[in-house]
Amino acid sequence: MPLTGLTFNVQRFSTEDGPGIRSTVFFKGCPLRCRWCHNPEGLRPSPDLVWYDVRCIGARECLKACPEGALELAAQGICIDRTRCTVCGTCVSACPTAALEVIGRSWTAEEMLQELQRDRAFYETSGGGVTFSGGEPMQQVGFLAELLPLCDGAGLHVALDTCGAVSWARYESILRWVDLVLLDIKLIDPERHRAATGVSNEGILENGRRLARAGMPLWIRTPVIPGWTADRENIAAIGRFIRNELPTVERWDLLAYTNLGRPKYRRLDLDYALAQAPLLARSVMEELAEAAAESVPVARWSGATCD
Ligand code: SF4
Ligand code: SF4
Repeated sequence: MPLTGLTFNVQRFSTEDGPGIRSTVFFKGCPLRCRWCHNPEGLRPSPDLVWYDVRCIGARECLKACPEGALELAAQGICIDRTRCTVCGTCVSACPTAALEVIGRSWTAEEMLQELQRDRAFYETSGGGVTFSGGEPMQQVGFLAELLPLCDGAGLHVALDTCGAVSWARYESILRWVDLVLLDIKLIDPERHRAATGVSNEGILENGRRLARAGMPLWIRTPVIPGWTADRENIAAIGRFIRNELPTVERWDLLAYTNLGRPKYRRLDLDYALAQAPLLARSVMEELAEAAAESVPVARWSGATCD
């Protein structure tokens, strides 16, 4: 059996995940549990079954088809008993309106390369390429070790979008095929980081230092989250860290909190800590970007605001 990678999306014509026009591959599985994660379908390292209320006509075909008795039609719609569901996909095929979907597609490295080559002309004319994101792509480093040499051989610019919370040995094993790393730095205080994501940030910061020492070009990304990361003290501390310890940083993006992930949590039966959080005001983002630029002139902000 060839090694396969498991993804939840391949986004073509992406312009936010590295230079130029890119295809971004989102891998499933992440070692962090950021309270604000807007891609919760990327958290688990295995496929997920989801149900879309707007597509459902109550045909009950899925209930009849399920071999595990894992589905129920309740007042609020289809309920999935995830302790029984084996994510076999039988109900997906049975549904006449595509109201059920298994999120998670397996690819061999050759299949993935073929998909990525479709937009080669756009990469070439825009100075773009491909970005491996997630979830956390380094959770599937064995697959990347097969795929990246193929991308390299095909002359594709490769960016790696990583949360940094994996061993240095994993990075070392594939860095020779990577042109750019997009590294998330969310918080400098280790205890605040643990409270927000489930793990301390010491290993993440150390991986940042090692990437810089290896001469890897870095784009830093900081999600700006009300009540968690969106304060001047945190942004200024990240700025000092970048200025003093990451000389290869080319760009620092402050990404305004987005609540677009909210319906996804419901579909996955996951709790969402920020369900009631409002978007930030433009003035807050501007003030934080100003604090960031005091240490790192290449800092910028983007994203939706409430005004
Ligand atoms: S994916 Fe399979 S086990 Fe899960 S609800 Fe559908 S039919 Fe049942
Ligand atoms: S690192 Fe990214 S994918 Fe992982 S939990 Fe945090 S926001 Fe979600």
